[in-house]
Amino acid sequence: MSQEVLVVGAGPVGLSMAAALRRYGVPVRIIEKAAQPSGQSRALFLWTRTLELLDRDGVGGELLAAGQKIEAVNVLAGAKRIGRIELSDIDSTHPYALMLPQAETERVLTAQLSRLGGKVEFGTEITGFINGPDYVTATLRHADGKEETVQAPYLIGCDGGGSFVRRSLGLSSSGPAQQSDWLLADVRVDGFSSPPTELTSFWHEDGFLGIFPLPSGHYRVIADLHDVQGERPEQPTLAQVQALVDARGPGNITVSDPVSYRAGRVFLAGDAAHLHNPVGAQGLNMGIHDAVNLSWKLALVYRGVGNAEALLDSYNAERHAVADMVVSNLSRATAVAMLKNPTIQFARNLLGNVFFGLEPARKAMAERVAEVSHSYRNSPINGTNERGLPGPAPGERLPPRPDEPPLGAGDSPRFALFAASSPAVRELQQEFAGLLEPTLRAAIRPCAVWLGRPDGYVAAVALEEDVRQIEDYLTAYVLDSSAIAAM
Ligand SMILES: Cc1cc2nc3c(=O)[nH]c(=O)nc-3n(C[C@H](O)[C@H](O)[C@H](O)COP(=O)(O)OP(=O)(O)OC[C@H]3O[C@@H](n4cnc5c(N)ncnc54)[C@H](O)[C@@H]3O)c2cc1C
Repeated sequence: MSQEVLVVGAGPVGLSMAAALRRYGVPVRIIEKAAQPSGQSRALFLWTRTLELLDRDGVGGELLAAGQKIEAVNVLAGAKRIGRIELSDIDSTHPYALMLPQAETERVLTAQLSRLGGKVEFGTEITGFINGPDYVTATLRHADGKEETVQAPYLIGCDGGGSFVRRSLGLSSSGPAQQSDWLLADVRVDGFSSPPTELTSFWHEDGFLGIFPLPSGHYRVIADLHDVQGERPEQPTLAQVQALVDARGPGNITVSDPVSYRAGRVFLAGDAAHLHNPVGAQGLNMGIHDAVNLSWKLALVYRGVGNAEALLDSYNAERHAVADMVVSNLSRATAVAMLKNPTIQFARNLLGNVFFGLEPARKAMAERVAEVSHSYRNSPINGTNERGLPGPAPGERLPPRPDEPPLGAGDSPRFALFAASSPAVRELQQEFAGLLEPTLRAAIRPCAVWLGRPDGYVAAVALEEDVRQIEDYLTAYVLDSSAIAAM
């Protein structure tokens, strides 16, 4: 069996996944079915959190040199300004967004991958795979038509919105392919429930909508599109399903994606895992965050020291929750922006003015847009903050400090201790020498220890006298029990 992790797709997410894994010493093979880079520039913005995370890969400077900083977003209705979101107030080393065409982002990421010894194999397509207990067996087709069978310890599908990997896992949110004039989607539904023995159909002047319970607890949404103008993509997006449910259903129903981003040794990332309305300009950014989240976990597991089940399962739990939140926020924002009724528009603009007049509301909005408020508060691998110490809580972002290297930089995924030196802390450092940064970071509170994850989120918080809680965290969630002795 090859030891190389197989990354499918060399869009921005596959490229950043491959680079992050290689940086952590994981051998990677990255394949791309297109003959050459697409050169398309769909995404135009890299947000604050993405820039912070890309600093770990050492590409932040190169991206900044190529792009244009954006420090504020103005919201207008006609000529009237409703509000302004100041990104420059964000507590970050990058208090701005970067306007950079996607092709440029991909160029920088490709160069980084090549510096790390990686190379995209263009003209190579995955056409099938078996997700086995010990490895994945994949069939690849080369441009000359030749087929190759490879075995890989893990496969990561970064193959975009129509993801072959996702469909092969039977995880498509669209169920069977969209049939000409019918849309079918298997989704999670909030705001509506029906007994498992009952079907519900809505008759609407635009056409039929059915919401049928599935044995899995999800629902199949069926809508007829006979009178709907516009494109009929093979795989409908969640946004298209939501729009139909909004238009034809009883209201206040939210659909979301039941897909798991992990199935055994196969993972999904980027558009393959979640699709976003391009209006929100979040898809590429979210995909890069997926790569950051998965790469350190996979690197620890690959080395044989990581607690595979806890770490790899947390990828789905953490990233799925963030994607759901972003999709539903964006659907709400789009609905508000597209209100048609003039009276309601008037009320919206008035309320918008009041909202944007409030400093805390403006700040919260800026942090949301810049993705710095995304967090993993309900993650299954969060440690505790039993004493309720003030400061970032487990699962929340640790804002980077200009005088310290970014968390997770370097050639090994290490946790960081934010603490003053003490015998107990030094003992901890010695015990987990291979897993912790050798140097302490400046304490966040006196007499307290913050444990930071390699992707810049809080793992656990404890008073110095309870430092054993940090040890318990590392042994429970991060390390494979058999690896502890070997450390
Ligand atoms: C108009 C528009 C504007 C947008 N603006 C923004 C923005 O400002 N900010 C933002 O964050 N996002 C934006 N997005 C979204 C962003 O473009 C996507 O989220 C991003 O491209 C996803 O990257 P990816 O690597 O997951 O997928 P993709 O970029 O789609 O890459 C997938 C790759 O996989 C390859 N592939 C597919 N199948 C196979 C196979 N079987 N074998 C091998 N390779 C395969 C494909 O050829 C492709 O190169 C925008 C999108 C659109 C359409």
